[in-house]
Amino acid sequence: MTVCDPIKEKIIIVAEHDSVSANQITLTLQENGFSDIRHANRGEQIYDILRPFHDQPEKIGLIILNDNLPNCQSFEMSQSLSCATDGSVIPFVILMSVATKPEGNQSRTDTGKCLVYQMDSPADPRILMLAIHFLLQLKRERTLRQQQEEQLINELASKSVIEAKLKFLAAHDELTGLVNRNTFERQLRLIMNLSNKLKKEGALLFIDVDRFSLINELEGFDVGDRLLVELTILVRKLVPASSLFARIGADEFCLFLENKTKKQAHIIAETIRTTVENFRFFTGEICYSASVSIGITSLDNASPAQHPGEMILHSRQACNFAKINGRDKVKAYNQDDVAIKERRRDIYWVPIIRKALRESDFFLMFQPVVQLNNGDISHYEVLIRMRGEDGKTITPDQFIPVAERMGLIHAIDLWVVENAIDFLATLPSYMSRISLAINLSGSAFQYPDLLQTIREKLELTWVDAGRLTFEITETAAVDNFERTRDMINKIRDLGCKFALDDFGAGFCSFNYLKTFPVDYVKIDGQFIRHLEDNETDRILVKSMVEIAGKLGKKTIAEFVETPNIALRLKDIGVNLGQGYAFGRPERNLLDGHQVSLAIILNSNSPQVSNSEFRKNDTF
Ligand code: C2E
Ligand code: CA
Ligand code: CA
Repeated sequence: MTVCDPIKEKIIIVAEHDSVSANQITLTLQENGFSDIRHANRGEQIYDILRPFHDQPEKIGLIILNDNLPNCQSFEMSQSLSCATDGSVIPFVILMSVATKPEGNQSRTDTGKCLVYQMDSPADPRILMLAIHFLLQLKRERTLRQQQEEQLINELASKSVIEAKLKFLAAHDELTGLVNRNTFERQLRLIMNLSNKLKKEGALLFIDVDRFSLINELEGFDVGDRLLVELTILVRKLVPASSLFARIGADEFCLFLENKTKKQAHIIAETIRTTVENFRFFTGEICYSASVSIGITSLDNASPAQHPGEMILHSRQACNFAKINGRDKVKAYNQDDVAIKERRRDIYWVPIIRKALRESDFFLMFQPVVQLNNGDISHYEVLIRMRGEDGKTITPDQFIPVAERMGLIHAIDLWVVENAIDFLATLPSYMSRISLAINLSGSAFQYPDLLQTIREKLELTWVDAGRLTFEITETAAVDNFERTRDMINKIRDLGCKFALDDFGAGFCSFNYLKTFPVDYVKIDGQFIRHLEDNETDRILVKSMVEIAGKLGKKTIAEFVETPNIALRLKDIGVNLGQGYAFGRPERNLLDGHQVSLAIILNSNSPQVSNSEFRKNDTF
């Protein structure tokens, strides 16, 4: 009896003009049970194949596309077809030839929701099949989710008025009656898709009430709420009734103006601004005036936004710029403004970082990484902090990106390496088994003195090289792949280990895993945090564990925030875990605080309630 696998019945399009490669791929697909394989030699043939299935997207499995296919803009095509968040998504495996591949870069980076996997051409059959299975699984997940959503909508439609009202409340902001952020994003996505196709214009206004928190503080939330309602009514009167208008934050509104040019949108925004400026708001005896800052981004922008989230972000950035420039202003999004802002930030931080390096204003914190099979601490990750002027601790997200842009990151990397090794050297002998994982920046391997620093420091302190693991991200290889690999090998020759950090955050992660000589794969925290209630994340983590295991690498999950997630990960087969459930980053190594969790990890006890667990716990 043969078992029918619905995935194998999907149509696979092989868009490859090189007949040898096309035959090879077809053979591989057939050997793996795929029967409906269609071929395209040119870009337009892909659309010819797709057209009859426009209302049955589930029949299409995936497209294997040669990056050089004649008459085909492969990047644009894959972007437009592979990013849908529902069942209409068509995943892509893109075969990159050496000639077109950007030098030193394995592939065009593609993050986010697009189901694209890039690999070298000619395709390695084993990797190709792994990629196909992985992408088809993700597509199936999206289709399922869409079906569930549709089912839910149908059920709701057939039920009573009370439920309809509940539905309205879920989609709307209770205070103002405007749609909420989720609904706004969903509707904006539809509008953007349609406008793109029909080449229609439109603009998004991001409206932020200036100094709103002041009114809240002085007069209380009731008055603040009343102001928001009155402003909503005011703006509503100024724009067409059909405009999509949403409250997306406490005092933040988004308004989409369909069929309006940039110029027209600017005029409307100015009208809103001046109307609010002239508006008077009374609370008892006191009369307040309010003002708004407005950011605009338009669909015909020189650098058009691809997704609703991006469009909202651009308009928010423009609005922030209006605020920086004195509030009560209208500002259109301009990429350069964002750059100017970043530049200002850089100029502010550079002397602070230089001083911190000179005067050792940095310090290290340590977060345990725990073995999930028994709760023992495997090692600690070293995380840098800066001491601020006022004694406050500054976290790396504030200064590392600036340091990277301004070429100061290498000095920081060396500082951390030296200080981490010194730290190990000063530990008492009973702690001589403790080892550390050190983060290296993306550009660490551009400088040969890194190797020298590590070697000299280890010789000087007699610290065993096996006690060091270096965490690197994919970006380490962006500039020079060969040099990076060479350097990793040299540092490994000393006896140190490597971990590939933030794994899965970019879609070429699997490519890097194949070529980077690393010992650990550190699964990005975004897949871990919602593992308990997100089936897709669980599927993804499972496939990462499977692939890492096949390649002989150990897996680490970061952002393990609850004991239940730790248990889930243990069940999935992840080797190590790190996160608040085991311990936050601390100034000292805290031995023994993993004990309670160790008991749970060791037993096969049923899931625990997180709150119950915390009560009895010592961490
Ligand atoms: P990363 O390497 O991914 O480090 C993990 C970050 O997640 C750390 O933030 C850590 O405090 C935080 N974290 C740990 N457990 C949890 C959890 O359960 N939940 C949540 N929400 N977060 C958790 P941190 O220390 O602020 O570091 C941020 C990033 O800065 C690091 O990300 C790393 O990319 C960079 N960084 C930190 N230290 C260094 C360093 O010494 N050198 C270099 N080059 N980069 C560093
Ligand atoms: Ca890290
Ligand atoms: Ca990470």
